[in-house]
Amino acid sequence: MKNIIILFDIDYTIFNTNQYKKNTTAYICSHFHIKSEDMKLFDIDYRSENVNPTGVNMKDYTEKMAIEFSLSPKELYQLLIDTEEIFMDTLYPDSLPTLSHLSKQYTLGIFSQGHLPFQKNKLIKTNILHLFEEKHTYIHLDKTHMDNMQGLPKNAIVVDDKLTVIDHVSKHIPAIHIDRDHKIEKSNFPIIHSLSELPEAINRLMEAAI
Ligand SMILES: [Mg+2]
Repeated sequence: MKNIIILFDIDYTIFNTNQYKKNTTAYICSHFHIKSEDMKLFDIDYRSENVNPTGVNMKDYTEKMAIEFSLSPKELYQLLIDTEEIFMDTLYPDSLPTLSHLSKQYTLGIFSQGHLPFQKNKLIKTNILHLFEEKHTYIHLDKTHMDNMQGLPKNAIVVDDKLTVIDHVSKHIPAIHIDRDHKIEKSNFPIIHSLSELPEAINRLMEAAI
């Protein structure tokens, strides 16, 4: 069934972005001797002034942070790309076992939002890039844009934590919603709470399609 492609979102689906943010803040504060309260204030200010429906643009975020704390923006951005310890514990425990298992049966790809080098680096640093097909790596600044949705292969299934994405994608191809925090009580879409439930959810989708 390698002709079926499972497209994974990165943030909050396979990659624990909360943990990553914690690690990043702790690292920057210790590396540049910045007080964590000052960093928190910067973060609150930035988010109140930059309401971006597609999420925080990390390049812009680090540039503003560099200005705030008189750092070199290039050096700061590079540190966030290169520093191994920032990526410690950033894969959910169910990610690697599920991806390894599914990769034997299906073609795996990525459908993620953000800057391509920044997002791809998360896969490199967590040692999972090899599990995904390069030609099925779709990373866009706004993935719900109509052109980006229509560019997805028709023989794919999308796995994502965001209901808005699931809602858009489902108009084109099947999608499975991962709700790790059990926030959703009722849903019109197939829903899982851990990636370990994914193989079964895919089987159910395939059976329903036959
Ligand atoms: Mg996500």
